[in-house]
Amino acid sequence: MRILILGAGVIGVTAAYQLLKDGHDVTVVDKADGPASFTSFGNAGLVAPGHAYAWSSPKAPGMMLRSLWRGDQAIRLKPRFSPRQWSWIGRFLAQCNATSAGVNTGHKSRLCVYSQTVLNQVVAETGIAYDGRDGGLVYFYRTPAAFDAAASRAQILRNEGIAIDVLDRDATVTQDPGLAPARDQIAGSLFAPGDASGDCNLFTIALAEKCQTMGGQFRFGETVLRLKTEGDLVASVQTDKDEISADAFVLCLGVYSPQLAEQIGLKLPIYPVKGYSATLPITDESRAPRLGGVDEENLLAYCPMGARLRLTATAEISGYSTAHRPSDYREMFARASGLFAGAVDFDAAVCWAGLRPMTPTGIPVIDRSPFANFWLNTGHGHMGWTMSNGSARILADLVGQRKPEIDTSGVRYDP
Ligand SMILES: Cc1cc2nc3c(=O)[nH]c(=O)nc-3n(C[C@H](O)[C@H](O)[C@H](O)COP(=O)(O)OP(=O)(O)OC[C@H]3O[C@@H](n4cnc5c(N)ncnc54)[C@H](O)[C@@H]3O)c2cc1C
Repeated sequence: MRILILGAGVIGVTAAYQLLKDGHDVTVVDKADGPASFTSFGNAGLVAPGHAYAWSSPKAPGMMLRSLWRGDQAIRLKPRFSPRQWSWIGRFLAQCNATSAGVNTGHKSRLCVYSQTVLNQVVAETGIAYDGRDGGLVYFYRTPAAFDAAASRAQILRNEGIAIDVLDRDATVTQDPGLAPARDQIAGSLFAPGDASGDCNLFTIALAEKCQTMGGQFRFGETVLRLKTEGDLVASVQTDKDEISADAFVLCLGVYSPQLAEQIGLKLPIYPVKGYSATLPITDESRAPRLGGVDEENLLAYCPMGARLRLTATAEISGYSTAHRPSDYREMFARASGLFAGAVDFDAAVCWAGLRPMTPTGIPVIDRSPFANFWLNTGHGHMGWTMSNGSARILADLVGQRKPEIDTSGVRYDP
């Protein structure tokens, strides 16, 4: 089958790989100059089934409200005169109850665990190097109260088969000696020994190269403008350069998926949630973390990637701008220098901001649309790197009319 994938982020490229493996004739189109140039460019790199909690939790509405006058909230709301934003917020708030959060976390964690298995298969098959690191991730807490609450909440992930160890302060530092200078700031941690990390950008670029050797074609620098339909099929895609026809199409445009889908009457509740990242050269390995992790109360994620340390922070519901200023990193750098003093060169930081394609549930949509040859694989939110390879395998199985290997009831298209 001739398949056109719209979008060459990690979601589009992993889908291309799985569809090529199944023997399809695959082309990927993207407006950027290369793979993983937008949200998949500078994420935290955490492959984190042990952190698969739904963001739409009972605590989220309070954080969003307080964020209107306080800058220290994990989820920040910057209201816009935008019906798209308000409609998404309404749907997000409707998910902020314990029952929905439990159900959504269950669906997410199942997909995350499966996806990590598929990631490992892909790495074994391709030999891709992406500054990957196994050995677990450390989610640490600064106050005993937050640590105790997190330890009881972890049961929901254990129920999905994810190993979570509860470590006190000393055990945390034994697990990652790079946290030794920060020992006194840590009350304890949840350690997910099965979690891992790696550079999503390097992985996606290398996988796109592999796809080319398998016969996949990439059309970069080409913007998708319109979908042309015939009856209940999509016949072609109009770009700024060409009209491309195919037997089937896969929508992987991240935060821009809803706008294209709307042209043919599809409703995708995806809205950008902005985050900031900085990549710093490691100058003293003995002081740097050995494993990735999250400073939970500050929602600061850190991840060693080869000779670099990636830091990310903030979840801002503020629209489509990826602009960033030095002041956006002040707090991040202050926190990080308190943890990893002398480990990195802050003056050489490469700063970036990206837009997580969030659904209100945090669960992506991986399904056939009402147009029989138009497939959806989008809305992977804050865990798209973790969920990418499994989502791709599910998509390829659905396209090939095979039963996916896990229960996919949570990822169905439900307008
Ligand atoms: C700060 C931050 C930290 C994160 N940390 C993690 C993490 O630790 N672990 C994790 O699992 N996930 C993480 N994520 C989430 C993850 O990065 C995303 O879920 C993932 O990158 C989404 O991939 P995507 O392919 O759907 O979107 P994108 O990477 O945005 O790809 C969409 C592509 O579509 C293209 N495009 C858009 N419109 C058009 C058009 N009209 N025509 C042609 N091309 C178009 C874009 O150029 C882009 O290449 C993080 C995200 C952020 C922002």
